[in-house]
Amino acid sequence: MSLSQHQRTLLCAAPQSRADYESAMKTAVEAVSNWLSEEKMYTGGSIRQLRSEIQFEPTAQGLGLPETLSRLNHLFLSKSLKVHHPHSLAHLHCPTMVASQVAEVLINATNQSMDSWDQSPVGSLMEVQLIDWLRQKVGYGKGTAGVFTSGGTQSNLMGVLLARDACVAKHWQNDDGTEWSVQRDGLPADALKRVKVVCSENAHFSVQKNMAMMGMGFQSVVTVPCDELGQMDIGALNQKLSELKQSDKLVACIVATAGTTDAGAIDGLPEIRQAADSVGAWVHVDAAWGGALLLSPKYCSKLQGIELADSITLDFHKHFFQSISCGAFLLKDERNFRFMHYEAEYLNSAYDEEHGVPNLVSKSLQTTRRFDALKLWFTLEALGENLYASMIEHGVDLSQEVAQFIREQDDFELLVNPQFASVLFRVRPKDYPIEFLDNLNQNVADSLFAQGEANIGVTKVNGVQSLKMTLLSPIATLDNVQKLLAQVRAQANQIGDAVKNGTYQPVID
Ligand SMILES: *Cc1c(COP(=O)(O)O)cnc(C)c1O
Repeated sequence: MSLSQHQRTLLCAAPQSRADYESAMKTAVEAVSNWLSEEKMYTGGSIRQLRSEIQFEPTAQGLGLPETLSRLNHLFLSKSLKVHHPHSLAHLHCPTMVASQVAEVLINATNQSMDSWDQSPVGSLMEVQLIDWLRQKVGYGKGTAGVFTSGGTQSNLMGVLLARDACVAKHWQNDDGTEWSVQRDGLPADALKRVKVVCSENAHFSVQKNMAMMGMGFQSVVTVPCDELGQMDIGALNQKLSELKQSDKLVACIVATAGTTDAGAIDGLPEIRQAADSVGAWVHVDAAWGGALLLSPKYCSKLQGIELADSITLDFHKHFFQSISCGAFLLKDERNFRFMHYEAEYLNSAYDEEHGVPNLVSKSLQTTRRFDALKLWFTLEALGENLYASMIEHGVDLSQEVAQFIREQDDFELLVNPQFASVLFRVRPKDYPIEFLDNLNQNVADSLFAQGEANIGVTKVNGVQSLKMTLLSPIATLDNVQKLLAQVRAQANQIGDAVKNGTYQPVID
């Protein structure tokens, strides 16, 4: 192979490389634009159909860029789920901003890495400024304690990790009387049984997963029941805390959720802070979803008390409409980063740190890391805060309208009064046997997906199978949702008739 071929293939200064890049990017962008213009939410069909069509076929010669692009347009792009479709509302999975997409072009092409200043000279300084801005938004005040992450799971891991290690440092000592370092010495033998993390039963499963990864096991997580809106029951929390105290347990952290994944419930943050203070615990607020309300003058009061937390999870690839991945972790007191500090001579030497070089590797669980912060920066500057806020508020307002509409229907049942931007409900045709309702709701969602009509969520609410509409989309309307509900109703009736006649076949088989 010749050097010129290498030059042409790599993104670099060679004129052929730049020409190929421009032309292939243009074709790719046109293909995306065509795909966007198609109306149907999804055209891939069932898992079985897809599996039979998807074949990985690398060759010794290679197909070249244009042909591979055309092949993958057909194989991947044309059959991908359209996350911008108003009927794609199963998950906290957002349509993305044009600004975010443009920023991605710059992020990918420059391929900066955030782990040391010399790998992202401008990017490092920009990320630090954005962290400072986010800190002021949550009410922490100016500062640099925070970092962009791959998302909510990683940010939550940082929260519980720092909280646990701070708890051990406070309660255990070395023989010479200095504080115990979990980072250096691992966990003290009796910490495994004594140290607990408390969250509501609706908190995100990453709390359990992260504690397991930290060697504490699921057993270290104590869950508190919720009230009828899905918020942590504060009476039950105080009860649990006093039981834990009596059995000589140490509560390292209370994880409060601002926007639970299903109901969108926002826990009482000031009350949780107060309860945590009574046992000396850290408060981590998982605002992966609800954090978007920080931008909304109309609804930001729902997050009252977030500034009292010791650490916060924000996720921009949810209700902030950024492309995946884009999240952040904010820490109130910078000194607590010491529990994960590690000095690598080649990245963040003591020399650099003394001279104020922002080597962000000290604040991150990752080493090589994308400059995802640019997407949020780009969007905020391009749109301005007012338009951004109104796009976020749209889902909250729409959820109220949809909930009211569902209350007025005889054959739909609203399962939770929405606090935020999701609606939990089920279809319940007249005289349908109650013991088959769970199955019916699951089957309705499965059929609508296989037909490419809608992606509706399925979850459990107080033991019953519930349908879920996550109304993030700033372009969804009450009319869109009413049309979707009419399809849900028609599908339920059709399945009901088929079951009665003994001709029903579930699509998942
Ligand atoms: C989505 C979500 C997470 C996980 O975030 P990822 O970005 O998917 O890792 C954590 N907590 C809550 C409340 C969430 O909704």
